[in-house]
Amino acid sequence: MIDLKSMTLPELRELLVSMGEPAFRGKQLFSWLSRGAESFDEMMNLPLALRERLKTDCILTPPEAIRKQESKDGTIKYLWRLADGNCVESVLMRYRHGNTVCISSQVGCRMGCAFCASTIAGKVRDLTPGELLDQVIFTQKDSGAVLSNIVLMGIGEPMDNLDNVLRFLELVNCPDGMNIGMRHISLSTCGVIPGIQRLAELSLQLTLSVSLHAPDSETRSRIMPVNRAYDVEELFAVCQDYFRKTGRRISFEYAMIDGVNDHDWQADLIAKRLRGMPGHMNLIPLNDVEESPFHPSRRTAAFQKRLESHGVTVTIRRSLGGDIDAACGQLRRKAQKGEDSQ
Ligand code: SAH
Repeated sequence: MIDLKSMTLPELRELLVSMGEPAFRGKQLFSWLSRGAESFDEMMNLPLALRERLKTDCILTPPEAIRKQESKDGTIKYLWRLADGNCVESVLMRYRHGNTVCISSQVGCRMGCAFCASTIAGKVRDLTPGELLDQVIFTQKDSGAVLSNIVLMGIGEPMDNLDNVLRFLELVNCPDGMNIGMRHISLSTCGVIPGIQRLAELSLQLTLSVSLHAPDSETRSRIMPVNRAYDVEELFAVCQDYFRKTGRRISFEYAMIDGVNDHDWQADLIAKRLRGMPGHMNLIPLNDVEESPFHPSRRTAAFQKRLESHGVTVTIRRSLGGDIDAACGQLRRKAQKGEDSQ
C-alpha cells in the first residue's frame, strides 16, 4: 500500500505519471491531502477510474480525534487514533502572535527524562512524515483555527526520528500545501548531538530548542539519561557550532525543579557556558507529574535575576492548558493509563 501522505509534490506527480495520468493530477491530489480529505470520493476533480485505483493501491486513513479537551484559555488538546490503533496527542495554543500547534514526533519516547510523563512507558514506534503532517492538517481542520506556527515539542524525540521529521518539514513547508515557513517552526531536542550536527549542516531557518534542564553533568545525567551518551559540555560546544553555521540563536528550555537545578551556581555555570553565543533561556514551571519525585522550584524569579545579572536573555514560559493536562511533559500518560487508547 502506498503512503500518499508522506510523499512530496514531485513524488506524487511522478507516481501519477507512472499510473498513466497527466502530471497535474499529482498537484490536485496533493492539494486534497493538504486540505485533509477523508476519502478519495471527495476528490471530485479526479476521474472516477483514478479514484478507484487509488482506493485499492493507497492508504488514506485520517487520524480520528477520539478525545478533544478544551481549556478555559482556548487551548485544545487532541488525542488522535492512528491507522494502526496507536494514539498520539497534539495541542493547539492560541497566542497573540498566532495559533500554534504542538505536535508529537513518536508514539511514546525512549529518552527517559525523569520528570517527563511521555517517556514512562517507552517508545512504541516512530511517526511517519504523513502522520506528522496530519496532526497539523487535522488540528486546523477540526478547530477552524488557521495555524501559523508549529512546535515539535509534543511526545517523542524528533532527533530520534530525524529522517521522517525532515521529510515532514519539506511537506509542511511546500507552497502548494500548508505553506508554513521554516521561521515559524521550532524543533525541540533533549540534546541528541548527531541530530543537532545534521541540522546544522542543512542550515534550516527553523528555531532549535534544546532541553537543557541542568548545566552540570552530574545533575543532568541524574534527570536526563541522554546526558550519559551526549555530555552537556560537548552539547554546549555543538550548540556554539550550530550558531556559527546557521546564524540562528538557540532557545534553551529549563524546567525549574525544586532543589535540583535551581541553585545560583547553576545559573552562573549556564552563563559561563553560553558565552559567545546569543542564546535564550526559557524557564518553564515544572509541571507536576504524578509518578515523579520532583516538585516545582520556588526560586524561579531569583534564578532569572541571577542569569540576567550575567547578561543572559531569559523568559519565563507562560503555561497554557494546565487544566486539561496539555502542559509540557504531561501528554498521553493519562489516556494511556485510562480507558480509551492502545
Ligand atoms: N523530546 C524533545 C521534545 C519533547 S518535550 C525534548 O526533550 O526537547 C518538550 C519539552 O517539555 C522539553 O523541554 C521537556 O524537557 C519538557 N518537559 C517534559 N516534562 C516536563 C515537565 N513535567 N514540566 C515541564 N517541562 C517538561
